[in-house]
Amino acid sequence: MDDFGSKATEHANFLVEHIPLKDCPTQMKAINVKVSCDIGLPMNSAECINNALQILQAIGACARASGEEYDYVVGLTDKDVCGATAGFSVYGTGVVFSESDAQITPHELGHEWNLVEEYVDACRCLGFTRADNCLDQYIGGSDPMLPYTSDYCAGGSACAGRAVTCQGNLNPSNGRCIMSYADAKEPREFCKHCWAHLLKIDFLTC
Ligand SMILES: [Zn+2]
Ligand SMILES: [Zn+2]
Repeated sequence: MDDFGSKATEHANFLVEHIPLKDCPTQMKAINVKVSCDIGLPMNSAECINNALQILQAIGACARASGEEYDYVVGLTDKDVCGATAGFSVYGTGVVFSESDAQITPHELGHEWNLVEEYVDACRCLGFTRADNCLDQYIGGSDPMLPYTSDYCAGGSACAGRAVTCQGNLNPSNGRCIMSYADAKEPREFCKHCWAHLLKIDFLTC
């Protein structure tokens, strides 16, 4: 439980350092709910996705039982569950699930805030044509993941579902955007398009 406490603090600190509230960090309040939620997470990715809503609702109910008030719940686990899925969220539930790496939390919350994946050309291949953070070929958005080619990324014409086909936009520190895949190049920060989008959300700004 102590490990979870320090991990939760690490996630909360990383989060507030990487959103516009970093200039007024006291405006974000992180509540560490020390309860063990027995929600029976599936061990494979497909089952996690199929049961995502139910799993997230169970995590939300677990946090609510503490009597605390919150805007978002982040469920953390130390187990390698859900196969290759490092985190997930269902838009509108206000609950995210996140494995050990701290950048997974702002990634999943990013989805709650209408940002789309950058490890795939989500704007062209997944139908999110109006998203603010489409892959941008001028900031690395055309860079492919092996064994794929740039045809799958910004400016291309090929698609492969939700497979990790692209590196994601570069961020101002020359790492990859938080909305790219879990192990993308560090340092992890939002790219300029994500940042511009977050600045438009009142409760994320000072
Ligand atoms: Zn994602
Ligand atoms: Zn981005």
